[in-house]
Amino acid sequence: MNRSTDIAGIGMTSQRTRERLVARLVEQGITNIAVLDTMRNMPRHLFLDEAMAHRAYEDTALPIGYQQTLSQPYIVARMTELLVEGRSPGRVLEIGSGSGYQSAILARLVDEVYALERIKPLLMAARKRMRQLKIRNVQMRHGDGYEGWASQGPFDGILSAAAPEQVPQELLQQLAPGGRLVMPVGGREQSLVVIEHTGAGFERREVEAVRFVPLVPGISNGTP
Ligand code: SAH
Repeated sequence: MNRSTDIAGIGMTSQRTRERLVARLVEQGITNIAVLDTMRNMPRHLFLDEAMAHRAYEDTALPIGYQQTLSQPYIVARMTELLVEGRSPGRVLEIGSGSGYQSAILARLVDEVYALERIKPLLMAARKRMRQLKIRNVQMRHGDGYEGWASQGPFDGILSAAAPEQVPQELLQQLAPGGRLVMPVGGREQSLVVIEHTGAGFERREVEAVRFVPLVPGISNGTP
């Protein structure tokens, strides 16, 4: 499936540019074929303002306004891979959906995505992109990731693109037995943490050093 052809057809969407990005992800150790295929087919330029779109297939984080960034493709691939490795999650909670790029990737790989974003205009723009791309299994809510989304839980997966100092207890409570949480944790020094709900308890491991924006409590309508 290639949804880009009917949307743009310009240089930056060229298959070659995307293949280069995927080759880079492979070089960096991403091995999950479903994740690589999904990244190859997702038009990342549609998640950026026009002024930034020409850089969409560089493996780098890019500004999306409100002092937030669209995550680097490598980290999106890595977190997604960690979330889906060895299983196929049904319901996934995503925290800090920002542009909606990670939401769109998840939507192709899991049954249902429930996405929270604290900055309203980012949420509105991301919702519009889901409609444009005809992605129907993502529900987005203006809400605070510290609280999660209890009424839609428990979740088989929880993935966050913003870092709390510690994993919020509230989120662990919304993780189903057998479920897995993937999130950056820390302040100036952060690591990517994976927590498995084994049924008997929680197993935690740290995967690698990362740098994310902080998970900021509360919600915002986007005005300074
Ligand atoms: N995956 C997104 C990353 C956006 S950056 C993308 O690729 O576009 C992280 C996002 O987390 C920002 O949009 C920020 O507003 C949001 N965020 C920070 N704290 C939050 C909170 N408490 N609840 C929900 N979203 C939050």
